[in-house]
Amino acid sequence: MRAALLRTNGLDGLGVEAAPRPEPGTGEVLVAVEAVSLNQLDLNVIAGLGPGRAARLPRVLGLDPAGTVVQLGAHVDEGLLGRRVVAKPNIPCGGCANCARGREADCPAQTVLGVHRDGGAAEFVAVPARNVFDRHDVDAATASAIVHSLPIVINAVDAASVTAADRVLVTGAGGTLGHVAVAYLRHLGATVVAASRAELEASDGVERVVAHDAAELAQALSAFEPFDVALDVSGHGGIIAAGVAALGWGGRAVFCSASVDARLELDARDLYLNRKQVRGVASADFEHVRRALRLVQHGDIAPIIGSRHPLDGIVEAYRGFGASPRGKVVIDVA
Ligand SMILES: [Zn+2]
Repeated sequence: MRAALLRTNGLDGLGVEAAPRPEPGTGEVLVAVEAVSLNQLDLNVIAGLGPGRAARLPRVLGLDPAGTVVQLGAHVDEGLLGRRVVAKPNIPCGGCANCARGREADCPAQTVLGVHRDGGAAEFVAVPARNVFDRHDVDAATASAIVHSLPIVINAVDAASVTAADRVLVTGAGGTLGHVAVAYLRHLGATVVAASRAELEASDGVERVVAHDAAELAQALSAFEPFDVALDVSGHGGIIAAGVAALGWGGRAVFCSASVDARLELDARDLYLNRKQVRGVASADFEHVRRALRLVQHGDIAPIIGSRHPLDGIVEAYRGFGASPRGKVVIDVA
């Protein structure tokens, strides 16, 4: 089969080449891949930095493949054969207390497809059967484009107990995660103020704030009534802190990324006296994935797909990843 194989760190070490077709192990399925998306984490794997250091090379990239189940390993429900599926990137251990109570996002022993094991930027990928989800009539590109982003957003919005009565600040709203966060919050009926570095198109019930850095954002937010919830997907410490400061009494802050800064500096007195809460939310539960796919299937939320490339164009797609237009970059494998 053809696969995007990273042999050595750096984009020069990545190429599309012939690789052995994987055999599904016990409890696994083999998926014939139709589409897979590019993610920030892939860049860490390619560079061998941060969470990407966990990848042993050579490694087939690809976190979020979607396709059709074509072969079953031992002890797998035969009904899965021929099923149109999408794979969840984070693979929980299945044996810990968090996994037992359906909190797969909080499994301390989870691994990631395309990082700890070969991923789906290939014609075939082997995945644990419990990590693939029926995508029904959702096309492979769309399913791949949302399976990593929308479930995390749903997890974060749940963690902040958002209701239709809440005023929610979304920071980092210009990116893929930001787009689905705003769409999901609007679907819930919440009032949304969306902050981003670049001007975004207007949409119903969403007020836009443009700020180029944390100081500019704090300044802009001082003109607003305090918020009930601040949801950050930017991963910037200063932006997260500006969101926490903009909360009112008992406000809840959640952030879904720490990709830019390791340090987060907060006013302890403001947090304590005003009964504010701050939580980081990483990954998602299986139930969040099922809910995300239902929302997309019913047309409630649609991802923005920025560009599509063939598998042979994946190295070029990574080269242009940072500069690509808004939306998910999808690789059409088949
Ligand atoms: Zn676990």
